[in-house]
Amino acid sequence: MKKICVIKGDGIGPEIIDEALKVLKVVRNDLEFNECLMGGIAIDTVGECLPQATLDCALSSDAVLFGAIGGEKWDNLAREKRPESALLKLRSSLGVFANLRPAKVYNDLLSLSSLKDEIVKDVDLLVVRELTGGIYFSQPRYKNENEACNTMKYTKEEIYRIAKIAFECALKRRKKLCMVDKANVLETSALWRELCSELSKEYPSVELSFMYVDNAAMQLIKNPRQFDVILTENLFGDILSDEASMVVGSIGLLASASIGGKVGLYEPIHGSAPDIAGKFIANPIATILSAALMLRYSLNDEDNALKIENAVARVIKDGYGCADMSFVKHKLNTKEMGDLIAKLCVQ
Ligand code: NAD
Repeated sequence: MKKICVIKGDGIGPEIIDEALKVLKVVRNDLEFNECLMGGIAIDTVGECLPQATLDCALSSDAVLFGAIGGEKWDNLAREKRPESALLKLRSSLGVFANLRPAKVYNDLLSLSSLKDEIVKDVDLLVVRELTGGIYFSQPRYKNENEACNTMKYTKEEIYRIAKIAFECALKRRKKLCMVDKANVLETSALWRELCSELSKEYPSVELSFMYVDNAAMQLIKNPRQFDVILTENLFGDILSDEASMVVGSIGLLASASIGGKVGLYEPIHGSAPDIAGKFIANPIATILSAALMLRYSLNDEDNALKIENAVARVIKDGYGCADMSFVKHKLNTKEMGDLIAKLCVQ
C-alpha cells in the first residue's frame, strides 16, 4: 500500500479533495488515505494551524494531497498563527525546493484566456520555480525606521538541484529549457547561468536558452507557445507562474506539484474560495489534475496520471464545465464533475 496524507483544509478544500479521492480510488486500489487537520479547521479543532500529528503523518507518507486553507475568520490572528503560515512550514518541513506548475491550454476552452485565441492555442508549458531559497529566505533581512533590506543569495547546491529537475522535466517533454534570470544585473543570475550551462553537457538532447525576466514577462503574453520548460529562481518564478496561469484562464483548472524533498506536496493553485464554499459549485479539476501529478512524480505511475489527464481533456472537449467556466454547454456541480471524470478514467 502507498500512504497518502490527505489535507482537506478550509472553504472549498473538502469539496474538491473528495472528488480527487473519488478519481484516485477508481484508478488505483493500493492507496491508503490518511486524513489530517491543517489550517483554520485545525485552529478551531486543536488550537494550532499545523498540528504535530499532521506533520508526522506527512513526513511518513509517500505523498501529500492538499486542498486549500484560510478564510476571513482567521485573518486577524498574528501572522505566525494564521492558516497560511502552516503551508510555508509544511513546505519547508517536507524540503520541497522545486515547484512545478504546468500551464496547458485546452483548445476547446480558448475563450477562458484573456489573450487572443491565436496566441494561446496549443500552449503547453511548465514553470519550474525554486521554492525554498533566494530573496524570500536569505539573510540579512530587516526593516528599521530608516531602511529595509532583503538579500538574494543562492548556493551552487541550491541551483544545481533545481536545474537538474528542470532538465529532467524537459527531457520528458519537448526538450526545450529556457532559464529566466536577470544576469545583466544580478550576480546570483550569473551563477545560475554558469551552472545551467555546465549541467547542460549532461543533457545534450535538451536545448538550453536564457532569457531576461523582463523579456520573459513580455514573451509570455506575446508568444507563449515558444516555451516548453521555464526554469527560474523563487521571486521571478512566483510572478511568472501566476502570469503563465492567466494564459490558460480559469484558476479552477490549474494544478501544482512541489517536489525535490522527502515527500512531494500536490495542490491546486487556487485558495479556499470562501465566497463559494459549501455550495458545491467549485471546480474540482485543478485538484484532480494535482492528484495526477502526484501519481506521476511521487508514485512513478505515468499510465494512471495520463489516464486522469486524458479524462479531463475529454470532459472539456465534450463541453462540460463548472460555474467558473461561464460559456460551457453543460454545467456540472462539483460532485457531478468528479463522477464524470472518474467514469471516463475506467472507460
Ligand atoms: P481564491 O483562489 O480562494 O479565490 C479567488 C477567486 O477564484 C474567488 O472568486 C473564488 O471563488 C474563485 N475560485 C477559486 N478556486 C475556484 C474553484 N476551484 N472553482 C471555482 N472558482 C474558484 O483566492 P482568495 O479569494 O484571494 O483567497 C481566499 C482564501 O484562500 C484566503 O484566506 C487566502 O489566504 C487563501 N489562500 C490559500 C491558498 C492555499 O491554501 N494554497 C492559496 C491562495 C489563497
